[in-house]
Amino acid sequence: MNRMIPVTAIITAIALLTSGFMKQNGPELGKPASALASTSVAGESGTGDSFAVRMQLYDKLSKVTNVEWYWIAAVDQYERSISKARPKARPLLGQTVGVFVEPERWAGALNPYTEDNSPVSIRWFGGIGQDGDGNGSAERTSDFDLLYSLIRFMSSYGINEERFPIGIWEYYHNSRAAQRVTQFASLYRHYGRLDLFEHAFPLPIGNSYSYRDTWGDRRGWGGRRIHEGTDIFAGYGTPVRSTCYGVIEVKGWNKYGGWRIGIRDLNNHYHYYAHLSGFDKTIAIGDIVKPGQVVGRVGSSGYGKPGTSGKFPPHLHYGVYSDRGLIEWAFDPYPMLRRWEQAERKQLRSKG
Ligand SMILES: [Zn+2]
Repeated sequence: MNRMIPVTAIITAIALLTSGFMKQNGPELGKPASALASTSVAGESGTGDSFAVRMQLYDKLSKVTNVEWYWIAAVDQYERSISKARPKARPLLGQTVGVFVEPERWAGALNPYTEDNSPVSIRWFGGIGQDGDGNGSAERTSDFDLLYSLIRFMSSYGINEERFPIGIWEYYHNSRAAQRVTQFASLYRHYGRLDLFEHAFPLPIGNSYSYRDTWGDRRGWGGRRIHEGTDIFAGYGTPVRSTCYGVIEVKGWNKYGGWRIGIRDLNNHYHYYAHLSGFDKTIAIGDIVKPGQVVGRVGSSGYGKPGTSGKFPPHLHYGVYSDRGLIEWAFDPYPMLRRWEQAERKQLRSKG
């Protein structure tokens, strides 16, 4: 859609389309949205119960919007990841969904009543808030209304694989956000489930590597002034494995990182593996990987033009960055590495 068209005109058009649609589909939504949220979401990745509750919600939304469930799940998960990274700016509004919408955006920028929940006046003021569950009010604290409003806005640009991403871009006006949602959707689509938060240690478990907490050290072969990551020392050619379910976001040469690979997971964390001697040949940007899957080999590449190697001992530089919407923050991966290593050790022992 032409971006020169005022937002209010677009909203009015969407509202007109959806009001007719809701009349046809209203009876399907007898159950109020709050009844869906019988289980609260615990922890970062959620419990089995909370995944089931979410999936139920996405299926219902998919039925009324004709948007594939994995797009709906991806939008919700992107919103959740940004809310988790910025909890003060984006307090949780619903019970199950991770969506946050500013009151002004929900009710309309010029709406004098920022807590407005009347679909008619919200539409008049160009707000995005809509009544998804058919109870007559567009509630900014209703799981169903929240996610429904975002999906309605985005799907007004089309619902197929080419058009829906345009709507995502129009909502966020941020290409990183659009890329994330598309990555998440491809993961959900590929696996057909929401429970994709298992982790693995980046090297095969054993005694052939060593690492310690080097967070913030002054020296570092990672390409930053302060060391942002953990160096795991191991021999040339040791397999390097994905630590998560994720999408290959970056692959290639970087002056400091050498041959490096970047993987995005559903927590919106970017896992960075640097100084590799090579990549797994089958892996390309956009591919989906799972925890423990080999993506490359340990090396000592970096600190020069493509192919430079041997300026420091072979090791894997592993860093994790959290996406906060417009910027990314590195955080210390050491405690997670210890946890994943112990969990895998335990698993291996129990297998005998
Ligand atoms: Zn390093």
